[in-house]
Amino acid sequence: MNSSLQGIGMTSLRTRERMIKRLSEQGVYNNKILEIMRDTPRHIFMDEALASRAYEDTSLPIGFNQTISQPYIVAKMTELLLGAAGHLGKVLEIGTGCGYQTAILAQLADHVYSVERILPLQKKAKSHLWDLKLKNISFLYSDGGLGWPDYAPFDSILASAAPAEIPPVLLQQLAIGGVMVIPIGKSGNQSLHRVIRNENGYHIEQLESVTFVPFLSGKE
Ligand code: SAH
Repeated sequence: MNSSLQGIGMTSLRTRERMIKRLSEQGVYNNKILEIMRDTPRHIFMDEALASRAYEDTSLPIGFNQTISQPYIVAKMTELLLGAAGHLGKVLEIGTGCGYQTAILAQLADHVYSVERILPLQKKAKSHLWDLKLKNISFLYSDGGLGWPDYAPFDSILASAAPAEIPPVLLQQLAIGGVMVIPIGKSGNQSLHRVIRNENGYHIEQLESVTFVPFLSGKE
């Protein structure tokens, strides 16, 4: 790894190890996810001015009124998606943003199909993920409310923006046996939901309260 990827001082491996310790204290148990987050440089996904804060337990601005999700949320959502399976299979991600969550998913998946509605964010994410040599990712500039019909159904679906209700198209594009993790609700009143699809239908659980940017329709 070159030195900017490796990080120094507040972006070093030591700092990432402290983040991992905190995550496990916060109740993230999956060792595979913790190892991947320890080894994935989060600071390269944000502007240099904020890089020294990359491993704090907070969401941070990435431009265009959007935020990179806090490490705990990335870890928790990935853990919910993974369940006991150990592997994510074919993943649909809605809201590429800066690409950090994408990087974590890609290391647990066969392939990640990631949709973003703000083109400059998608471009930046592509270049960061390329720097990390993560190649099992495809990008689509589109409204994620439409999913990605060409590659449906998906074993796993993760959304990092909150719609008022679960978009029906995403339910349709979830494979039987598949899992979706998505924040639902208006600003100030959102909670994480997990949807599991089986032969008989959908099992929906409402989980912890969260704060996400809104899931918007159309493209910018
Ligand atoms: N996981 C990302 C989260 C970024 S914030 C990260 O950590 O960087 C949420 C992202 O979802 C934003 O980039 C926003 O543009 C995008 N988004 C919101 N609604 C969307 C939609 N309907 N389709 C695709 N992307 C959407």
